[in-house]
Amino acid sequence: MEFRIGNATLQLIKGDLTEQETDALVNAANATLLGGGGVDGAIHSKGGSKILEECKQIRAKEWPDGLPTGNAVITTGGNLRAKYVIHTVGPIWRGGFYDEAKLLRRAYWNSLKLSVAKGLQTVAFPSISTGAYGYPVGEASRVAVGAVVDFLSQENKLERVIFVLFTKETLEIYLRAAHAEVQEKFL
Ligand code: ADP
Repeated sequence: MEFRIGNATLQLIKGDLTEQETDALVNAANATLLGGGGVDGAIHSKGGSKILEECKQIRAKEWPDGLPTGNAVITTGGNLRAKYVIHTVGPIWRGGFYDEAKLLRRAYWNSLKLSVAKGLQTVAFPSISTGAYGYPVGEASRVAVGAVVDFLSQENKLERVIFVLFTKETLEIYLRAAHAEVQEKFL
């Protein structure tokens, strides 16, 4: 399913993030940047050790105490089809009382900003924070789609943003959020 937002296309598909041929994939990383489970594990195992080496350099040079939640950094894509990987840290869900929505929005926003700063045109996102980090998918989908739609409405340099959802259920939830968002903001 595709939506036109300004000059850009917002696309939602069911699939494996690590197979995408976009300019960048966004990794649902953790603060250590040293790998983990879920999307992070899949990116590092398919992308090879070059990504991890670059992450270690970033830790050493820029973030010795770890990447704060909501920030984003970029490495090359190693052996992946995507040219770059943007590593961002989503919030751990703690009942919604600790600015989770703001932090999740910031993770999407900063990943998109970094893509534009790097001159990239196509970016693929997973459903950040809704795996190990426990963010309820319905709420996360509204924040995620809202952030991307707002960004694309303000910034015309990106060509395509794709949400790559791992299951049919997650895709359906994100599609509902996208329909609601587009209806509210553009109709
Ligand atoms: P977080 O720690 O931010 O919660 P996870 O990687 O645990 O991140 O999960 C985020 C979401 O990504 C979950 O919905 C999970 O099912 C999904 N996911 C896991 N592997 C992949 C993959 N290869 N491609 C796309 N989505 C994936």
